[in-house]
Amino acid sequence: MSNRVVQGRMVTPERLAELIEGERPMEADGIEDADRACPECGGDVLAVSYMPTVTELITGYKCQDCDWSDADR
Ligand SMILES: [Zn+2]
Repeated sequence: MSNRVVQGRMVTPERLAELIEGERPMEADGIEDADRACPECGGDVLAVSYMPTVTELITGYKCQDCDWSDADR
């Protein structure tokens, strides 16, 4: 199962990447638990790998409890 609850809503990997990136990715892998805590609220952070374009593969991070997100690029 790869859908997870973020800010009270069930999200797919594609939707999670969209929340981080601001637009829907071409492709997204499964959601994983990131080994870090949210710098804003200390909540659990999820990680998802996605391709915003055919040539980019990014790991994005999103807090499960607040609006904080980040991306490695
Ligand atoms: Zn947070």
